[in-house]
Amino acid sequence: MTDLLKDHIRDIPDFPKVGILFKDISPLLKNPQALKQSIQQLAQPFLNKNITAVAGIEARGFIFGSLVALELGVGFVPLRKSGKLPYKVKSVAYELEYGSACLEIHGDALTKNDVVLVIDDILATGGTAKASCELIELLGAQIKACAFLIELDQLNGKEKLSNYQTHSLLHY
Ligand code: AMP
Repeated sequence: MTDLLKDHIRDIPDFPKVGILFKDISPLLKNPQALKQSIQQLAQPFLNKNITAVAGIEARGFIFGSLVALELGVGFVPLRKSGKLPYKVKSVAYELEYGSACLEIHGDALTKNDVVLVIDDILATGGTAKASCELIELLGAQIKACAFLIELDQLNGKEKLSNYQTHSLLHY
């Protein structure tokens, strides 16, 4: 099971900067069996857990997040990079493995009645996912968990997310 997914993830050394080993998920997206399996495994622990929305982090979190939302039968909320959302937004700034950034959510995307599953492709340092959780909590919604296709164990992203349940399919 894990092998099918791992066989479709490609390592690209020194992208986008020297020293970064980029995990390229393009082969997994192109393979229908691997894509389906990854979505089912991401969603499985959260079936019948009263999730009301899936929030996906730009950009690869949009792909996995929307498909997981369909699998769970709930709607999808995009968490976008600065300046992309057209309506009123809430923003949180954060540090990346390579650089810094700002994430935004529409102010009316979630309410205090929402129970949210946060999805991204990779948990690296955890800064992006933590900022995402903070954004969602700014709107009063509750985080059920954060789920990732890949977790880079050495970067200890899980420590930054110690207040939240996490679920990662593959560990490197
Ligand atoms: P972080 O905030 O450090 O956990 O970084 C997570 C975000 O950066 C995710 O949205 C990933 O898509 C991307 N990312 C971080 N490290 C890598 C990597 N080694 N390969 C591919 N994407 C990465």
